[in-house]
Amino acid sequence: MPHLALSQVSLTTVPVGSDLSLRRSVFKAQSVNFSDRSWAPVLPLDLKTKSGRLRNQRIVCMSVQQASAPKVAVSPLELENATDPPLNTYKPKDPYTATIVSVERIVGPRAPGETCHIVIDHGGNVPYWEGQSYGVIPPGENPKKPGAPQNVRLYSIASTRYGDYFDGKTTSLCVRRAVYYDPETGKEDPSKNGVCSNYLCNSKPGDKIKITGPAGKIMLLPEDNPNATHIMIATGTGVAPYRGYLRRMFMEAVPTFKFGGLAWLFLGVANNDSLLYDEEFTKYLKDYPDNFRYDLALSREQKNKRGGKMYVQDKIEEYSDEIFKLLDDGAHIYFCGLKGMMPGIQETLKRVAQERGESWEEKLSQLKKNKQWHVEVY
Ligand code: FAD
Repeated sequence: MPHLALSQVSLTTVPVGSDLSLRRSVFKAQSVNFSDRSWAPVLPLDLKTKSGRLRNQRIVCMSVQQASAPKVAVSPLELENATDPPLNTYKPKDPYTATIVSVERIVGPRAPGETCHIVIDHGGNVPYWEGQSYGVIPPGENPKKPGAPQNVRLYSIASTRYGDYFDGKTTSLCVRRAVYYDPETGKEDPSKNGVCSNYLCNSKPGDKIKITGPAGKIMLLPEDNPNATHIMIATGTGVAPYRGYLRRMFMEAVPTFKFGGLAWLFLGVANNDSLLYDEEFTKYLKDYPDNFRYDLALSREQKNKRGGKMYVQDKIEEYSDEIFKLLDDGAHIYFCGLKGMMPGIQETLKRVAQERGESWEEKLSQLKKNKQWHVEVY
């Protein structure tokens, strides 16, 4: 990949050999020249920037502003060779110690609550596939078992197997801080805030973190049919696995995975400030209008047709004819996010099926049998 010419590229670099948490240079470029030798992000690169020349840099983050340009090359391609996903390479008794690369708040000021995008450097030692989860063991003692470590908390992986730096060495998580509000006073009670989510959102670049996994097979992206339809339903951080899928489909150039199907994302959040990864998704809409659809349910800003709050199931209902037809044609449907989303969605699907003169129970059992139905809620 000798030359990457795009509308804009944001690069974060560190001098080769330096600590990841130190001496970062962040700048935007109209184009980047890579020699064949320097393309692998671990190899040194000399960069000409507005403020002068940066020599012997390693790219630690690159975000491409316009996806219609050539997709981003990924490495190492050996990550494509395995026929089965890696599973539980690291277990709670013997976790891997990884390093925090960055923690970024990704919601606006009007979002209720805080959600962070967290990049973790696993050095290529804890590979995973899109749709899997990592476990995190927060520091401290297990309150229920004195002397024992804290229990593992699972987090869906929000990056592709190549990570956000395209080098197969990092994993990204999308974590919402669990904050406890006293139901009587309405005030926050920090002593009851979630342990692991706050630990992750408070962590700093360079911090060490104990991880386990990767875990889970239910949300793996079926790769047998590159022209398949994937209907992805998310509430909040449930969008994490889909960010990974969509980067694989639309951002990365993977020689053995060329997506020609339809990916349709339904995302439910509170308001516009709570949208997650919206820039990436909007870019795919612009660049791949035939392969990507993106529908939002903003519960505090939009009304459904009955005048109530707009939830993902209302959007599903709006497009139910198309969705049922796609499912009949073999589409995969995924649900990820808070447990509470499922009853409303199931009710809506049941009602729609009845209106169409179909039995939802039969349809659901057929979808499960055909492995079209994927649910990961927490
Ligand atoms: P905990 O310390 O475990 O507390 C749990 C809840 O109890 C919190 O809301 C806390 O405020 C409340 N609480 C604590 N003490 C009290 C008390 N005394 N009285 C009343 N309430 C109390 N989460 C994400 O953010 N992003 C993801 O991508 C994600 N993916 C997941 C994938 C899977 C497969 C699963 C199973 C879960 C996933 N989760 C995800 C949820 C995550 O694993 C954690 O459950 C979540 O972060 C809360 O953990 P915690 O340690 O912060 O809270």
